[in-house]
Amino acid sequence: MSNDINAHADDTRKSSSGEDEGAKRSSNFIKEIINEDIRTGKNGGRVHTRFPPEPNGYLHIGHAKSICLNFGIAAEYGSLCNLRFDDTNPTKEDIEYVESIQEDVRWLGFEWDDRIYYASDYFEQLYEFAEILIKAGKAYVCDLSPEQMREYRGTLKEPGRESPYRNRSVEENLTLFRKMRAGEFQDGARTLRAKIDMSSGNINLRDPVIYRIQKAHHHRTGDTWCIYPMYDFAHPLSDAIEGITHSICTLEFENNRPLYDWFIENLPVKTRPRQIEFARLNLTYTLMSKRKLLELVQKKYVSGWDDPRMPTIAGIRRRGYTPESIRDFAERIGVAKADSVVDMALLEHCVREHLNKIALRRMAVLKPLKVVLVNYPEDRIEELETENNPEDPNAGKRKIQFSRELFIEEDDFREKPPKKFFRLAPGQEVRLKSAYIIKCLEVVKDESGSIIEIRCTYDPETKSGTGSARKVKGTLHWVSAHHAIDAEIRLYENLFLKADPDDVPEGCDYKDNLNPQSLVVLKGCKIEPALREAKPGDKFQFLRQGYFCADLKDFTPEYPVFNMTVSLKDTWAKIEKKGD
Ligand code: ATP
Ligand code: MG
Repeated sequence: MSNDINAHADDTRKSSSGEDEGAKRSSNFIKEIINEDIRTGKNGGRVHTRFPPEPNGYLHIGHAKSICLNFGIAAEYGSLCNLRFDDTNPTKEDIEYVESIQEDVRWLGFEWDDRIYYASDYFEQLYEFAEILIKAGKAYVCDLSPEQMREYRGTLKEPGRESPYRNRSVEENLTLFRKMRAGEFQDGARTLRAKIDMSSGNINLRDPVIYRIQKAHHHRTGDTWCIYPMYDFAHPLSDAIEGITHSICTLEFENNRPLYDWFIENLPVKTRPRQIEFARLNLTYTLMSKRKLLELVQKKYVSGWDDPRMPTIAGIRRRGYTPESIRDFAERIGVAKADSVVDMALLEHCVREHLNKIALRRMAVLKPLKVVLVNYPEDRIEELETENNPEDPNAGKRKIQFSRELFIEEDDFREKPPKKFFRLAPGQEVRLKSAYIIKCLEVVKDESGSIIEIRCTYDPETKSGTGSARKVKGTLHWVSAHHAIDAEIRLYENLFLKADPDDVPEGCDYKDNLNPQSLVVLKGCKIEPALREAKPGDKFQFLRQGYFCADLKDFTPEYPVFNMTVSLKDTWAKIEKKGD
């Protein structure tokens, strides 16, 4: 990693989210390459990127980084970004994934207009490219079995050996390849390989397979094809067909770049895309492997791809994260050339920062404890006023009902309070948010000794907003028992107990690190009646608790369900402060 990249990483970390997206955008090594290409007139000064997901799973937050990068560059340079499905692997792909990917990219705030493409749309043209290679003596049909091929390939230290089929004539290769296409051979019986260099230090150049026989139904091309191109062949050529100028991918493809270039150089393509690699995003306490995420879904460790604990875009959307916060996060982590792990606390910090600005404040009691105000008239109901969001001058105020019977949080009362417990305890006073100061007189218990209600007095001289001089240390959230509505609230923790879920003793796997507390469902929570008007996906700050959102799937006005998005405790802000 060069120094300037390091310097850049620091810069991006400090740039905070702001209204002016353009102004805060910092430079990165990819943009430097693009700027240089523009300066030298490469590609006629054109910039054209693409996001190329394989529709074999739902997108995750790592893909979000790639989406923000590719579409972000297009937006910044006033150019275009294509959405292309890299659908060359029919047995693993599905239309469900194609649809979810489009939904997720749109949700992140990006548009591809009519530029949605599929590698499968190029199958005919790719096939023709393969014949061109054969005719030029640069590709051959090989009969080695997969095991033999592995054996012939050699190792990092030893060169490979040439396949006995390497020197077949052009005619024989063409005939065999056409028969492969016609379905005359069994799966795996033959392959088409590029004829490059079996002694290359780069194993990718040791006559890589470019077509395989696979008699599988494809979600778009049906049964038209029984041979499918390999990624390494399809990808650069799809880029070239679409006129992509900068093909941005993750670091694991660095060693594939010479092969990428080989195909571009050896085929009659109209444009010459350039592959640029950047470090993939890794996040603590979660996973980015599609295979493992699929396993969690299939084995029902989670409720689906959109389980709010999943790092999928569908999951974080349902959890209550906003596209703005994801874009801000992607901007802050920047792009680097060396792999690293980003602290989940930074992502949560970005989410909090945005929600703090937009989320309406509401009161919700997660574990209700009844409070009876003995000196408050039984039939009286007062309408008090409270702010919807002190951070947003346009959010206005709302009315909340106050009455003789209220609910407060069970944890906000202690019969025997420890020192510095500034909440409610026998003989102790607290303020109820936007209401009055109350004092605990008495604790009522059932036969088993459990507390069933707290009896208090309220001080009518201390109504909020009337300039009452009396101050107490604690302020609690509350709801009026008669007016509150019942809700189900789902609390979430990290899906994994360890920062690196793959860190396991021998004989175990990442699933042994699953956090059994990652989901806690609370029923019978008492929430403000104003929340009845919430719509699925609406976001709120429940005072003193955190940010919550009405569940996209399960919320109804009759049975409100809220997901905890993130608590109020910002561990990242602390980390940042220490670093200053
Ligand atoms: P696989 O290819 O094994 O199915 P993948 O995660 O690479 O998994 P793709 O659908 O090929 O999935 O990814 C689409 C694009 O997203 C690629 O350009 C890839 O490099 C990029 N990408 C995938 N994972 C990450 C990540 N963690 N961080 C940044 N970019 C990523
Ligand atoms: Mg991939």
